[in-house]
Amino acid sequence: WNEVERLIHEEEVAGVPMKVYKERPSNISETLTESVKCYPDKIAVVHQNKRLTYRQLQEQVNNAAYQFKYKYGVQKGDRIALLLMNGIPFVVSVYAILQLGAIAVPLNTKLKSQELKYMINNSGARMIIANLEWWPNLKFVVEETNVEHVFITDTKIPEGTKPYINLVNTPAETIIDAAVDEHDSAFIMYTSGTTGRPKGALISHFNMIHTALNYKYCYNLSSADNTVIAVPVFHITGLAAQLVPFIFLGGKAVLLSMFRPKEFLQTLQDEQITHVIASPTVYVMTLLDPDHDTYDVSHLRVGGFGGAPMPSETLKALKKWVPAIELHNSYGLTETSSPVVIMPHEVQLQEIAAVGPTVPVAEVKVVDPETKKELAPGEVGELIFKGPMVIQKYWENEEATTKAIKGGWFSSGDLGVVDEKGIITIKDRIKDMINRGGEKIYSVELEEVLYSNQKIMETAVVGVPDETYGEVVKACVVPRKGEGLTVEEVRQWVRDRLANYKVPTYVEIMDVLPRNPNGKVIKTELRYIP
Ligand code: AMP
Repeated sequence: WNEVERLIHEEEVAGVPMKVYKERPSNISETLTESVKCYPDKIAVVHQNKRLTYRQLQEQVNNAAYQFKYKYGVQKGDRIALLLMNGIPFVVSVYAILQLGAIAVPLNTKLKSQELKYMINNSGARMIIANLEWWPNLKFVVEETNVEHVFITDTKIPEGTKPYINLVNTPAETIIDAAVDEHDSAFIMYTSGTTGRPKGALISHFNMIHTALNYKYCYNLSSADNTVIAVPVFHITGLAAQLVPFIFLGGKAVLLSMFRPKEFLQTLQDEQITHVIASPTVYVMTLLDPDHDTYDVSHLRVGGFGGAPMPSETLKALKKWVPAIELHNSYGLTETSSPVVIMPHEVQLQEIAAVGPTVPVAEVKVVDPETKKELAPGEVGELIFKGPMVIQKYWENEEATTKAIKGGWFSSGDLGVVDEKGIITIKDRIKDMINRGGEKIYSVELEEVLYSNQKIMETAVVGVPDETYGEVVKACVVPRKGEGLTVEEVRQWVRDRLANYKVPTYVEIMDVLPRNPNGKVIKTELRYIP
């Protein structure tokens, strides 16, 4: 990244000196305004048969911002939740919310009522914009929160909700400009945690702008690039690594409602996609499609992956399929607003197992997970990161903030090693998390739900290897004496309470859990497929 160094200098951010880009827009709305100025008639976003130019996008954004402000009294700092799958309403809503200096709270559409209720209450969202299909999960929740208005994106709307379409189709009388500072908050992104309760990572405009600039420089992207967003845009990768950078660049972002290999391949061909970033599972499943090599994917220049380890066989198969593709591993977390580590293409093919060096504005240290003392080069320890993409705090959660962030350094919960060239390899993780194709499942959340079943005496949840997803969930369950408990009952118990991707693929009913002399469950002994 040597050339990028001259664009960087040191600044103090909240008392912490760090490397930042010298020239940068001051907020995310400004990036849209700039792209509209430069490329008014260029296509900005595409979803199914809908295509919006930059000018049309800004018109819808401004209309919605005007309605939010003058009809519904939205103020700077207010939170608006989004329960939207990939589509134009997500893009318009996010940019309208940010234009007002309000905070967008994208929620995972797969969550069930109880999970949604916690996040809506915790964020204090005043409004929700949702697709009709998630209404059954929402309707029981809304009454138990402070939500004042729910907007539904469908033409037929349920009683008690409002049509989203009126927000975007009613012409605004003025241009909304809320004087948003770069350190104002832009998003609350919920991530699960070791405490069982999700934590809201508070991401600022400054954080996101730095991620967008990292993308621009590390991948050498420009307005001529087109990306396909095949991962959910409510997750940090789709949002911070694709949507926001591409609007910033004046490029084209094609959103897929969900990942289906054939539709993905057709989009690569028809939309002349040049850039992709997705979880390894997306690539694994694409290559498994027997027709994958019948599509013209010759425009594909950059293939980024991350979120979970990439099988080396898939990497080799990708290079064989599209010889000109530049492959880049990237590593990051919600708390680092997407990648803090991006692998340069030249190094990728030699260092298959490594994730890469930090991006030019980030720094890494390897520390002892207990004492947090820095370790000698080459030693395996916890990776901690500092930089302008790293959040300063969790939303209204001082305890979690103090635990995870000290003096600007964020503890990742991942174990790794850094070599003499600064290249990081992930070795393991400290946090009790299962990475199912990039979707993160915290064991403790599942264990709590299983313990709430009166028939269960003891339980431990682990990840076991899987060819497609990397890892899947296994629940080990010890029933109370005399209780007949079936595998399907255990699955249904979880399915009724948590998102379907958290439902265990494997359930093992056991007489006793393996424990060490201190009584701690030895999870490593449970990591096999029953
Ligand atoms: P999330 O906050 O959902 O983005 O999850 C972040 C976690 O995903 C990290 O703490 C890692 O455990 C894992 N992860 C992210 N990128 C990679 C990668 N390139 N290789 C392996 N694991 C990764």
